[in-house]
Amino acid sequence: MNIPELVSSQKEHFHTGETLELPFRLQQLQTLRDLVSDNHDLLCDAVYRDFGKPEFEVYTNEIAVVLQEIDTHLKNLRDWAKPESVKGSKLTFPSRNKIYSQPYGAVLIIGTWNYPVQLLLLPLIGAISAGNCTILKPSELAPETSRAITGLISDRFNRNYLASVEGDAGTSRELLKEAFNYIFFTGSTRVGKIVMQAAAENLTPVTLELGGKSPAIIHKDAEIEIAARRIWWGKYVNAGQTCVAPDFAAVHRDVEDSFIRYSEKVIGEFMADRTNGIKAYSRIINENHFNRLTNMLSKSEPVIGGEADPNSRQIAPTMVRAGWDHPLMEDEIFGPILPYIVYDDLNDLNQRLRDMPSPLALYLFTKNNDIKNTVIRDVPFGGGCINDTLTHLGNSNLPFGGVGLSGIGNYHGKFSFDTFSYKKSILDKPVWPDLTFRYPPYSGIKLNLFKKIFS
Ligand code: NAD
Repeated sequence: MNIPELVSSQKEHFHTGETLELPFRLQQLQTLRDLVSDNHDLLCDAVYRDFGKPEFEVYTNEIAVVLQEIDTHLKNLRDWAKPESVKGSKLTFPSRNKIYSQPYGAVLIIGTWNYPVQLLLLPLIGAISAGNCTILKPSELAPETSRAITGLISDRFNRNYLASVEGDAGTSRELLKEAFNYIFFTGSTRVGKIVMQAAAENLTPVTLELGGKSPAIIHKDAEIEIAARRIWWGKYVNAGQTCVAPDFAAVHRDVEDSFIRYSEKVIGEFMADRTNGIKAYSRIINENHFNRLTNMLSKSEPVIGGEADPNSRQIAPTMVRAGWDHPLMEDEIFGPILPYIVYDDLNDLNQRLRDMPSPLALYLFTKNNDIKNTVIRDVPFGGGCINDTLTHLGNSNLPFGGVGLSGIGNYHGKFSFDTFSYKKSILDKPVWPDLTFRYPPYSGIKLNLFKKIFS
């Protein structure tokens, strides 16, 4: 694979203007929809082979999410792509003013392994809608899915328009040497910084979808059984290997005992059928990550769970009582271990959260509107839910992205179209009247006229 040649062939293709045509974009979206819908079994199977992710989770969290997103774009693209008329101003009177959404050109989308279908195809939908040519770089840590997607893409798309390039970090670095017109990266904060440095060489704009330690706050007035069930669901899905999984819980002291009791109950329910549990519960992606997590567990005394099986690379949902200085509170966990800290005062907790790097998500369990408003106002985070976890991602009317170390930019629905477009502002001036008071020679009378208009 000659990467420089591929990128320049995409740039050449972009300049033919084919991707600017709306019918072309709608057709490509439909082709992508057919690709996913015809091959959902193949894709589910590939992800299962990569890390044992249950078909139920792949279908609901990846396939359905992608199909729903394509349908949203197919339905709305004509509207989104229309030039937007905006008002003129006193300074520019008379004029007609419009904003044109223009594609960037050749874009690079680098994905990660934990939602290997969704995290590659969801941004791709935005790139297609906006009218770009795209190179996808799937993650090498989910090789079966990487191969499946690359094969399907090359079967159905012209590589000068859309290609998938398989490979590891080295391939990614090769791609990053090229002068793409936009780079969309999903992965770790560490690699996000590398991507941004590479992009800076060409001043290429980036979206960085990164991670962080997303808290779940359980206030004393919360419905504790619901909180426990929804938090453990957020941790069970993908065995906690989700960028927006609740990373740790902050539990009000008054409800600590009942949170433990209900956590035991719901984990018991989720894992009830052990045989089914094995098949319906993802593996940790590889030995390195398994060892990283079990190493953290060896420094902990679980309140619930703690079992880890190196053969299946599965770790039981595990809860650990932790202080702020516990090893589990240092980095994003990215596994089914939930440390919790106990708090007494919400303002103190908010202060603590503000002192940490801003997370991608925050979940708050309370019935009190003042508390909802206080947390939303006082704590920086990308997005989240009240009385739920993860589900804010399921609504493409909500932009998805981080802030600070959890990322730059956002996407989903119209926000994806906007992410992959730049705004071209056009002021259309009539040739008559030609108001002459803006032209030299300047005079006191002309200046006074301006002063009168603006005073
Ligand atoms: P990673 O950052 O190691 O890898 C992601 C991609 O970057 C892969 O395609 C990989 O080949 C490439 N890459 C790796 N090293 C590179 C290098 N040195 N130079 C250039 N490219 C390189 O991803 P990971 O750590 O396996 O993924 C987990 C992280 O991703 C977590 O922090 C998680 O929170 C985050 N994440 C974020 C989102 C989101 O939407 N915000 C979604 C999923 C995961």
